[in-house]
Amino acid sequence: MKLILLGAPGAGKGTQAERIAEQYGLAHISTGDMLRAEMKKGTELGVMAKSFTDKGELVPDDVIIAMVQKRISERDCDNGFLLDGFPRTVNQADALKTISDIDMVVNIDVPTERLVARISGRRMCPGCGASFHISMYRGSICDKCGAELYIRDDDKEETVYNRIKVYNEKTQPLIDYYTDNGLLKSVDGDKSPEQVFESIKVLLKELK
Ligand code: AMP
Repeated sequence: MKLILLGAPGAGKGTQAERIAEQYGLAHISTGDMLRAEMKKGTELGVMAKSFTDKGELVPDDVIIAMVQKRISERDCDNGFLLDGFPRTVNQADALKTISDIDMVVNIDVPTERLVARISGRRMCPGCGASFHISMYRGSICDKCGAELYIRDDDKEETVYNRIKVYNEKTQPLIDYYTDNGLLKSVDGDKSPEQVFESIKVLLKELK
């Protein structure tokens, strides 16, 4: 399976991506996680990326496309992969066409007014990358690996509004893009993570 997970910031892409990748044995390719790893290491790419992510802006297409192309060529992607956070622009989607075919695009649909509350309650684990929401988990320590949870710099309220605006302008057009080529399937993301995952599994049965 070669899948794309689409959705606005806070729609629950990361949470669902982890579950899907585990259940179907897919390589989980999160461009956001890859950039955060570069930032943590303080590489040139990381420093450059941070100047965009901190403002809620997108990192330039050529940088992201090169990063994904390299990642998809790695061996663990031979058995299938799940793209989480890529593509985010029509330009990236066009480039992806030249890199790999795709079996399905799953769009997690959440009403815009729910996104800010979801993002501002998010807590991340620096150790294993898991994310939690304070409405479901009140602890300050990751229950998977024991690391201390933190709030992503770009989850702060002033940045969140710009991320949603950027999503509406640059990424939302991909809904039409993938509807037109018949790959798009949508699930109602305004439900519990378990219910959303069940809906996604129903869709993925079509591919088996
Ligand atoms: P995410 O973890 O997917 O929400 O990504 C965090 C931030 O990384 C985004 O707000 C962007 O600044 C940047 N980013 C991640 N994926 C991409 C992409 N495909 N294109 C451009 N920027 C990206």
